Amino acid sequence: MLSFFWFFFYDEKIYNFRVLNCDVYLRRLLMIRLSKSILSQDEVDAVAKVILEDGYLGMGKEVQFFENELSSYLENTPVACVNSGTAALHLALQALGVGFGDEVLVPSFTFLATYQAISSTGATPVSCDVNPSSGLLELSEIDKLVTKKTKALVYVHYASRCGHLKALYEKTKQYGLRVVEDAAHSFGCRYEGKKIGSFGDVTCFSFDGIKNITSGEGGAIASNDLEVMNKVRDSRLLGIHKDSEKRYLGQRSWDFDVTEKGWRYHMSNIMAAIGRTQLKKLDNNFALKRKEFYKLYSNALANVSGLKLLGDEFDSKQDIVPHIFPIRILNKKRDQLKKIFEENEIQAGIHYKPNHLLTFYSRGEETSLPATEALYEEILSLPLHPELTAKKIEFIIGLIKKSLL
Ligand SMILES: *Cc1c(COP(=O)(O)O)cnc(C)c1O
Repeated sequence: MLSFFWFFFYDEKIYNFRVLNCDVYLRRLLMIRLSKSILSQDEVDAVAKVILEDGYLGMGKEVQFFENELSSYLENTPVACVNSGTAALHLALQALGVGFGDEVLVPSFTFLATYQAISSTGATPVSCDVNPSSGLLELSEIDKLVTKKTKALVYVHYASRCGHLKALYEKTKQYGLRVVEDAAHSFGCRYEGKKIGSFGDVTCFSFDGIKNITSGEGGAIASNDLEVMNKVRDSRLLGIHKDSEKRYLGQRSWDFDVTEKGWRYHMSNIMAAIGRTQLKKLDNNFALKRKEFYKLYSNALANVSGLKLLGDEFDSKQDIVPHIFPIRILNKKRDQLKKIFEENEIQAGIHYKPNHLLTFYSRGEETSLPATEALYEEILSLPLHPELTAKKIEFIIGLIKKSLL
């Protein structure tokens, strides 16, 4: 009863209430979260159907349906589902023949998962610097860092942007590099009218709990390269030839052959049931909310001194469904602002700690990526998820303006 009462006042906008109350439970309840899974009875019903009616929890028809729906969402690009975005990246690289002794170019400014996926193949990630205004790979880094050992490049769609994809593909073609797009932030986004995942070399998505859609955990690989897709379909099931097709028919492979390394990375029917339900809500619900809140932030913060929004001249070619909303806080005030956020029960994030600064990935002291390191000091991600409200965002904006005065 009490908590209901507080909630009521909260949404009626007496925000400072939150600061006054010291009850830990209530504070948590009133906290504005950085990100959030948006789930309802629909997902519960879909999972219940798999459990009670189908009775088969592993990889079966439900996964096949999800893949078909994803494929038509991505303009009929073949799709294979796996149990995480990290697994998607790992299998995509393996299918491109990336392995021991190879080098893979990758922006340091990404989630650790991108790096660990490269390491999983046995290859070495080669850290590249980013463009400070967008957080995207600086294309001139390719010319600088490519060697005879370079086999592929992982391109990260940081904060759902893709920058100058055309120039990227021209350059990688020139060097004979394959490209894996880490589009974990970009499910549902478009570049020049085309869906991300429908035209690239190999594109990987993540459906973990807080991404644009979730399947619990989960991920997918999309590519028009059928050889890559066949390899990925086998390698997610321990490398067993054509086991995917058998499972879609509710059968198992007893007599089989294996010609390559494989993993237990397949998606389960339970995950697919959640994912299918979420996919139906993306365009007409989640995406609209994300875009609306993104716009509120962008419009209000565009001309605030002491901070900078991310972006570049290629933004106009894109229609993005924003996954996170990072901004640059200038004049060394980022940590101070983050603290003020915390005092006001607002979660903020730092996407990301550059990977070349981690012990495992620092390749000696010579690795210095000035733009990435500078951006890391400035970056702060503001709350962004479909269950925010305009009022909460106005409160956050007000707090930022007041704090940066
Ligand atoms: C989430 C994410 C991944 C990994 O996805 P998981 O499903 O969590 O394994 C990879 N790269 C980036 C940029 C991500 O944000």
